[in-house]
Amino acid sequence: MKISPSPPAPLPQGEGSQIPPYQSPPLPLPAGEGRTVSPVSTRSWGEGDAHLTDDIVWAALAEVMDPEIPVLSLVDLGVIRAVYLAGDQVTVTMTPTFSGCPALVEMQRLIKERLQALGASEATVNVVLAPPWSSDWINAEGRRKLKAFGLAPPPVHGGDVQIMLFDTVTCPRCDSDDVTVRNTFGSTLCRAIYYCNRCQDAFEQFKPL
Ligand SMILES: [Zn+2]
Repeated sequence: MKISPSPPAPLPQGEGSQIPPYQSPPLPLPAGEGRTVSPVSTRSWGEGDAHLTDDIVWAALAEVMDPEIPVLSLVDLGVIRAVYLAGDQVTVTMTPTFSGCPALVEMQRLIKERLQALGASEATVNVVLAPPWSSDWINAEGRRKLKAFGLAPPPVHGGDVQIMLFDTVTCPRCDSDDVTVRNTFGSTLCRAIYYCNRCQDAFEQFKPL
């Protein structure tokens, strides 16, 4: 039943008068201004001072290895779809190789870790499932590394996976196409096991998808 406004609550003891001026950290700039205006700071913020560019971020992501095939970077694998920079806040969009891929969480962790080490003030990884990842997105460098690793690279199929599934597989060791499929599922869902009739040895293929 109060009809008069209550007096303002007293500030907790000690607060209010003891905050020295200019102590708060620089606030992030509104979206869109980050590229042209740098926050004015009179003190060093360590790695947060890094001025990231698309090239720097892509180069760093090219050093983040696939947890399942450690010779391939996430860039080689084609799972990194886009990089967006707002100042030193980085957003990466990725599409996992397989939607149920158990390595996905690990990939996200590795990306964030790398971006933070690079000086990103904020690192976000968005996962996009459509369009689904295709083995056609593995770049030329990735295909070379797969072969050197002893894993036959998937043929480029241009969208017609069925035709290519058991076709044009060559042995990563001797390049012979005299090969026989042994098992359509190898050590992981994304690999098939073949037998090279020339080497007389088995090898795995990264299945086209
Ligand atoms: Zn062979």
